[in-house]
Amino acid sequence: MNPKPLLTIQELQDRMPGALNKVSIDLEAKRTELREHRGNHFGASDIVDKSAIQTDEEEIIGNINRLIKVKNSIEVAMGAIALQEYGYCKSCGVKISLGRLNANPVALQCLDCQSYGEPSHLRRQTQSVCA
Ligand SMILES: [Zn+2]
Repeated sequence: MNPKPLLTIQELQDRMPGALNKVSIDLEAKRTELREHRGNHFGASDIVDKSAIQTDEEEIIGNINRLIKVKNSIEVAMGAIALQEYGYCKSCGVKISLGRLNANPVALQCLDCQSYGEPSHLRRQTQSVCA
C-alpha cells in the first residue's frame, strides 16, 4: 500500500519545527488575505456582491481556523517531544505505532484510545483523579 519507507521517530521529531514554521507562515498569509479582502470590499453595497464577499470571507476564516488547529496540534506534539513523551499514547502510555505516527505525526493517542473518543478518555481521567 505505502511504497515509501516509514520515517523514524527521530525523523518525525526533526520535522516538527519546520512544520510549525510552515503552518505559522501559512496562517499569517491567510490573516493578511482576510485583512486585504475586508479592506478591498469595505462598503460594498450590492446585495449579490455582499453575499459573494461573505462566502469568500467565510472560506478564508475556515482556512484560518483549520490552520490554527494544525498549529496547536504541532505545538502540543513539540511539547511532548520536549518532555520525551512523543510517540507514547497520552492516555495509556503504550508506544504509538510508527505507521500511525507517519500517517499523523501529531497523534497523541494510540489507535485503541483514539477510537474510544474524547468523552471516554476524559471520564477515565476523571476516575483516575478521583480514585
Ligand atoms: Zn492508548
